[in-house]
Amino acid sequence: MSAVDAAALTAWVREFARLAHEQRDALTRLDAAIGDADHGANLDRGLTAVVAALEAQPADDPAAVLKTVATTLIKTVGGASGPLYGTFFLRAAGALDGDDGRALATAVRAGYDGVVARGKAERGDKTMLDALGPACDALDEAVAAGESLDDALRAAAAAAAAGRDATEPLVARKGRASYLGERSAGHVDPGAASATLLVEAAATALAG
Ligand code: ADP
Ligand code: MG
Ligand code: MG
Repeated sequence: MSAVDAAALTAWVREFARLAHEQRDALTRLDAAIGDADHGANLDRGLTAVVAALEAQPADDPAAVLKTVATTLIKTVGGASGPLYGTFFLRAAGALDGDDGRALATAVRAGYDGVVARGKAERGDKTMLDALGPACDALDEAVAAGESLDDALRAAAAAAAAGRDATEPLVARKGRASYLGERSAGHVDPGAASATLLVEAAATALAG
């Protein structure tokens, strides 16, 4: 199993940035249906700045990498998702203690808990939590079962994608989409879609 070190975390975030850029229009289309059509642009702008910041100041401390990601996202992404993803990475940075799958699972869980605390949403509210939550559960379960990091992250990515798809029939209870009430049903949540990219990026970049 490869170590979850600063280089691996940087590769993870770079892959997330690549996917967000590639999926920018798709994310924006999802946000056009139930929000204000800026989610793809928000994330692409933020993650482009993140990649630049990591290149300008390469860190060899894993927590420092996650902190740079957090502060850059908070600075550059207007909209709900910037502070929420920023909180995810900031809390993950604070909880990261080690370079194995268990340490990653603990850090990601802390990130998830931070998003819950900051956004005051719950699973089922049709937000990014509906993808992040199942991914954390799958990661914890796989790590506890002694699975390889590869297998654990693949399970987490599948759980995130299933959670994303399950947001389609839901009525949004948080964020802009909640202003639509019942009319928010019938569309996948853009944040759940981007959170799935985050987990898929981990499965690709952190695979040993
Ligand atoms: P904005 O809605 O301000 O334009 P974005 O379009 O970038 O911001 O992000 C929208 C996404 O943010 C939603 O699809 C949802 O997943 C997520 N989101 C919004 N509010 C919350 C919240 N309180 N908790 C968790 N996620 C949220
Ligand atoms: Mg939006
Ligand atoms: Mg907006």
